[in-house]
Amino acid sequence: MSTSELMSIPGIIDPVPVARNITPRADGRTDLIGLPRARLADLLSAEGLDARQAKLRAKQVFHWLYHRGVTDFEAMTDIAKPMRPWLTERFVIGRPHIVEAQHSRDGTRKWLLQTDDGHEFEMVFIPDADRGTLCVSSQVGCTLNCRFCHTGTMKLVRNLTPGEIVGQVMLARDALGEWPKGKMDFGDDASEAEYTADGRLLTNIVMMGMGEPLYNFDNVRDALRLVMDGDGLALSKRRITLSTSGVVPMMERCGEEIGVNLAVSLHAVSKEIRDEIVPLNRKYGIEELLEACADYPGASNARRITFEYVMLKDKNDSDADARELVRLIRQYKLPAKVNLIPFNPWPGAPYECSTPERVRRFSEIVFDGGISAPVRTPRGRDIDAACGQLKTAAEKKSRAERDREAAASAM
Ligand code: SAH
Ligand code: SF4
Repeated sequence: MSTSELMSIPGIIDPVPVARNITPRADGRTDLIGLPRARLADLLSAEGLDARQAKLRAKQVFHWLYHRGVTDFEAMTDIAKPMRPWLTERFVIGRPHIVEAQHSRDGTRKWLLQTDDGHEFEMVFIPDADRGTLCVSSQVGCTLNCRFCHTGTMKLVRNLTPGEIVGQVMLARDALGEWPKGKMDFGDDASEAEYTADGRLLTNIVMMGMGEPLYNFDNVRDALRLVMDGDGLALSKRRITLSTSGVVPMMERCGEEIGVNLAVSLHAVSKEIRDEIVPLNRKYGIEELLEACADYPGASNARRITFEYVMLKDKNDSDADARELVRLIRQYKLPAKVNLIPFNPWPGAPYECSTPERVRRFSEIVFDGGISAPVRTPRGRDIDAACGQLKTAAEKKSRAERDREAAASAM
């Protein structure tokens, strides 16, 4: 694999080339995490197994990798003993490297992770009474520069690979000790291997960490397929939500090829304000976006589209804005719920959060319009784990360093 292969991403804002592939390993072995069954079989046959053997072994290895979470080929007890060192010589079972793990006072946990080629990204786990949600990143940084989002100010951007995306979920299961103990003899009936959410800490996944998942569609799809596979991580698509800032041309494929719940970062109801705070709106406007929502495959009253709306003081939080939001949702006949997100500030942010009274009033107006509009409680603020605060420590440090340098040179 080459590191120089570049991918141009769609969008007028910043068509930055993004390196697509992982760095080859110095020891010449191949990391299997992120690969589907067919690719595992290809690799095994390239190493000399005949087609039948390769297919059978790939199925076994797949189960151990993704359903049982083992990180050592020696643990694959139904694979013949001599075969295990043979696998170890050629392959590895990777995980993102943990740079730092933090615990918030409210139970939220944040991990600063690093790719093999040294890029840092973050994931967050948010425990609640009835569920536990893992907030997964799709990119290092983000090219979209929404004005209220700290991640959008990161300069360095790279798409995460399928292995780095599914690796986050696997790492969370490692940390929470939640791999199923299951037996191996369920034959072809993968349903027996299904992972039930009952009594588990990690029950839901949101693609709401760093990055725009629909700008990294193929890798996000391939990773989520491993997460949803009955013999993989076996998490139901109903428990997975993908959030997009509105990459309209990819929304239909998202519904068709991934099939997860959709959340849309709407944040404003007029062109003028949305152009300012979500610059992608200049390319895909509100009407186009809402039409794509109306056409989203799989959306229904039972599976509503979530509209995220960040509450910015005197910017998008008036009574008229709330009424317009209700009108738009009705006009496009959208099965919708609204999620009001109090703005989480960060150093140098150009906005303030709306007052609690304003947020409450806004929520009431939307509720009165017949649409559920709960206010999201910010979690993990003390460790900068709340929505839009994700930006890696390395970047923060370099900014602090830059500030110090600037101060020194001004003296
Ligand atoms: N790029 C995707 C998903 C990641 S952001 C998207 O934009 O939808 C997840 C959510 O957090 C989005 O709704 C985003 O708009 C919101 N968000 C970003 N910065 C925020 C901040 N400072 N305060 C509150 N919410 C924020
Ligand atoms: Fe990117 Fe989402 Fe942040 Fe916008 S809100 S800059 S799309 S991560």
